[in-house]
Amino acid sequence: MSEEKKSLNFIEQIIEEDLANGLSKDKLRFRFPPEPNGYLHIGHAASICLNFGLGLRYNAPVNLRFDDTNPAKEEQEYVDAIKQDIEWLGFKWDKELYSSDYFQQLFDWTITLIKEGKAYVDNQSSEQMAIQKGTPTEPGTESPNRNRSVEENLELFFKMKNGELAEGSHVLRAKIDMKHTNMHMRDPIMYRILKKHHHRTGDDWCIYPMYDWTHGESDYLEQISHSICTLEFKSHRDLYDWYVDQVFNASKLPLRPKQREFARRNLSYTVMSKRKLLQLVEEKIVSGWDDPRMPTISGLRRRGYTPNSIRKFSDTAGISKRDNVTDVALLEHCIKDDLNKTAPRVMAVLDPVKVIITNYPEDKEEFLDANYNDYEEGFGSRAVPFSREIYIEKEDFREEANKKFFRLKLGKEVRLKNAYIIKAENCVKDANGIITEIHCTYDEDSLSGSGTEASKRKVKGTLHWVSVKHAEKAEVRVYDRLFTDEAPDGHKDKDFKEFINPDSLNIIEAFVEPSLKNAKILDRFQFQRLGYFCVDKDTTETNLVFNRTVPLRDSWAKMGE
Ligand code: ATP
Ligand code: MG
Repeated sequence: MSEEKKSLNFIEQIIEEDLANGLSKDKLRFRFPPEPNGYLHIGHAASICLNFGLGLRYNAPVNLRFDDTNPAKEEQEYVDAIKQDIEWLGFKWDKELYSSDYFQQLFDWTITLIKEGKAYVDNQSSEQMAIQKGTPTEPGTESPNRNRSVEENLELFFKMKNGELAEGSHVLRAKIDMKHTNMHMRDPIMYRILKKHHHRTGDDWCIYPMYDWTHGESDYLEQISHSICTLEFKSHRDLYDWYVDQVFNASKLPLRPKQREFARRNLSYTVMSKRKLLQLVEEKIVSGWDDPRMPTISGLRRRGYTPNSIRKFSDTAGISKRDNVTDVALLEHCIKDDLNKTAPRVMAVLDPVKVIITNYPEDKEEFLDANYNDYEEGFGSRAVPFSREIYIEKEDFREEANKKFFRLKLGKEVRLKNAYIIKAENCVKDANGIITEIHCTYDEDSLSGSGTEASKRKVKGTLHWVSVKHAEKAEVRVYDRLFTDEAPDGHKDKDFKEFINPDSLNIIEAFVEPSLKNAKILDRFQFQRLGYFCVDKDTTETNLVFNRTVPLRDSWAKMGE
């Protein structure tokens, strides 16, 4: 195998083979086919990156096709959100299409099938039909309605279409083979009656085609060369092909689409089914589809994820032929890696204690020049105010500590980032013994970057801080995983909601450096020594809100060590 071939994923290898066997490159065409019944999640991102990635690799068009055959669950809100998310991820579709645009064509083809004796109306109960379906090891039995005359079938089907029959009373079935080893081939339902308003076709229809009798035909009409879906559709492939055969023979379009399957993306510590995500939204367990704890694209965006990090995650996790679970730590690693390269470094204190620098003049303030990134060019700098009273993190001070504690302790020195070396002299406690103030002295000549001997002095720890009188108050939302279990929906006897983490959101009142006053919604920062944070859309003129995207610690990188 050549190097080039090895780096191809198995879908690309299939395409290469088809090209080698004579498929012309300009016939390649792909599609991403979401059902507009919810918001896109990180699993969809795998499919988006795969399909649009193929489009880029082969310079082929990729359609965005809304698979909207179930009016009960579909809404325009979802259509809009899906488009926004795909664009945000950085992909461009060729045509925006809807399965519902093909309803008339599907209906016309169906009439032909009925006339050819390949479809019939059944009015048995769904229970009865289920019994007749048989089992994977036993053949099914034929419906007593299977041999209705063409005339009768046409009459009943038109009655279904015209709204003369009740919902659930009749279905149209393909007449294939009740003894087929593939259960999907045992006279599958093609149409059901649903007297529901459709988000695009309104009340034009009260019969709606089933997924199988829509998907392949939509692929065919759009001349999709490779219709890529997830593994659960593998057993539908025979039916996909049977349906395509019927319309292929009756039409003039040259290309016969083929379905190929890959394993769904599963992610640890979350659920991905839209039905379950909808439950979290409806039961107000989260604030909405874009709650930063959700595995949705919109949730991840609000959390501070970049499009680049999601594409990188999809590529790194890759695609597979077998079901598997991707560790959420990989996703976290991808955003950390991206923000490490792109996010400006600033200072914020999340759990403050006051430090008074007793030998610093009371009215003095300085504006220290501080780089947004000490190691990379091009980030620029800002002025950080310094004064006699500052905040540091509570956990950065101890009265006494062993030699491994490289932060502030009584009698010892630390450097304040971008500023001076200070030494802790004593501390003040309240009646409960809680430390309320730390009194320090500073070395006046030790200012970072001033070039003096003292400024070059090496002290073990460096702390972040903010000046008390210049600090901005901010609300910081610190997130933990939404579920306490690795596979919340993998328990037979327990509902996934039993594993909701009660501490998945912790709201903190923090102090941030004043430069952040001008930050805009979705701006991303590294709060030094703490992690990556992003400005939330709830931010107002008077209330600055940050989401913690990820802490600095990288459990994925550690696993690789
Ligand atoms: P869900 O079960 O989450 O509701 P779905 O398969 O019903 O998902 P669709 O809107 O029908 O969602 O999916 C659109 C496309 O995205 C389909 O081609 C589907 O196979 C793919 N897709 C959906 N979920 C995943 C996933 N977890 N991993 C990879 N691809 C996915
Ligand atoms: Mg679906």
